Amino acid sequence: MQAQQKARCEVQYLDDPIHLARQAEIETHTQNWIRNNERQTSVREVITIPVVVHVVYFDETENISDQQIYNQIQVLNEDFRFLNEDRDRIPSAFQGDAADVGFEFCLVNIDPEGNPTNGITRTQTMYECVGNTVDELAPDGTPRLFYSNKGGRDIWDSEQYLNLYVANTCGRFLGRAKLPGTVSPNEDAVTIDYDHFGDNCSPSSFPFDLGRTATHEVGHFFNLRHIFGDATGCSMDDLVEDTPLQDTAYFGCPTHPQLSCSSFDQFMNFMGFVDDRCMQMFTNGQRDRMMATLASGGPRNGLAMSSLCNTPSVPTEDVLTVFPNPVNDCLHLNFETSSSEKVAIRLFNPLGQIVYENKNQNPLALKSINTTNLAGGVYWLVIEYGDERISKKVMK
Ligand SMILES: [Zn+2]
Repeated sequence: MQAQQKARCEVQYLDDPIHLARQAEIETHTQNWIRNNERQTSVREVITIPVVVHVVYFDETENISDQQIYNQIQVLNEDFRFLNEDRDRIPSAFQGDAADVGFEFCLVNIDPEGNPTNGITRTQTMYECVGNTVDELAPDGTPRLFYSNKGGRDIWDSEQYLNLYVANTCGRFLGRAKLPGTVSPNEDAVTIDYDHFGDNCSPSSFPFDLGRTATHEVGHFFNLRHIFGDATGCSMDDLVEDTPLQDTAYFGCPTHPQLSCSSFDQFMNFMGFVDDRCMQMFTNGQRDRMMATLASGGPRNGLAMSSLCNTPSVPTEDVLTVFPNPVNDCLHLNFETSSSEKVAIRLFNPLGQIVYENKNQNPLALKSINTTNLAGGVYWLVIEYGDERISKKVMK
């Protein structure tokens, strides 16, 4: 299957009376909250969202590294704080609508029993496609992924933790989440295919290789619908005031302007289906919907009240980690620093020549370097900022 044909995500709209009633209740809360809190954005605080990542793997390739997980958390933090480097690509017609959602994600340091944790669990499974929560079901019809006694891993209290599951979906979807009120608390989680978790320049992940699947799915978890309203035609809306009506989904990487339903389409919204490098924004209206879920009476209020990872995360010394080392196609960087200064990154080859250079990089946005075309040998990665200089030996 070619990457372009992969479905970004599947959202299920349940139409049984109990779930419809709960969704209607949540929608009423949402609309009321938006009416009462609209335009009060300047006084809004940043909200910390406590995250646990459950890696459920069949083989070691799927048992992704801690660094890959930190990398995904960083992508979420950039996208939900509007710090994503590619925000300049938003067409001017939509720049005024683009939002700093104000959510920051952190790996928890307390588990449901009150024990210390690094916010990551790892479970080996005997089911190869356990991440496929549509077809990989236990005999009782429940997805194996969410149950320890069925080949997966039990969810941590979904009112206290945002559970991100990483597992092999075997191509069924890149990611999956349910809207609030449409799922049992035991399965109220986000699922992402292991090969599309984090900013990952491996060829098999392309073009969904920048960690935007999680951004999109977490959007659903906070009650956002697809930008095109999940139907062809102009009658179905996404219930967000400032996103234009859009006839149907866009794929690939369209260029602005695209017109449907008598307006320019905001195909670069995170809640569409375009490639990772072609989506850059949430809108103010989407932010309000997400904020409403965290407010008192909202379905995600427990997360906003959490203190499961409120320890300060400012490191005492700056630490640069690179992986894998030796490197093949893609060198990942993780730079923990208390400095917000722009950094210069250079990669020197065995002859001392610069083979990669980025002189004006936000340290938060430091992620990966494509090393496919480099010859074998010893390289030095050097990061400079202010009077500081950190270097690492990299083998290819
Ligand atoms: Zn979706």
